[in-house]
Amino acid sequence: MKKYYKAISDFHKKFKMKNTNNEEMTFRLNLMTEELGELAQAVTKGKGREAIIEENIDLLNLVIGNFVSLGISVKEVDEAFWKKHGEIMGRKKRLISGENFRISDFK
Ligand SMILES: [Mg+2]
Repeated sequence: MKKYYKAISDFHKKFKMKNTNNEEMTFRLNLMTEELGELAQAVTKGKGREAIIEENIDLLNLVIGNFVSLGISVKEVDEAFWKKHGEIMGRKKRLISGENFRISDFK
């Protein structure tokens, strides 16, 4: 995580994104929606493994960029990740239809 965070932080610095639309969350949500659409196309149009990897990386870069934009440190991300991981590892698996299942809180 630390290496990815530093790489994306360097990207934001290189293109002077601080205090521009590129670090505003509404703009970033639009970028993420666009990339999610590209991932959906890669999957549904059978574009193959390489395209699917690339579109996931585009999304990963944007998610990490969200943390950079919001001034959320690597330490905070790391702590939040492991907190959430502990939660999801404690969840239940339930069949929702046929062979499809979800892992959730099911409250
Ligand atoms: Mg893309």
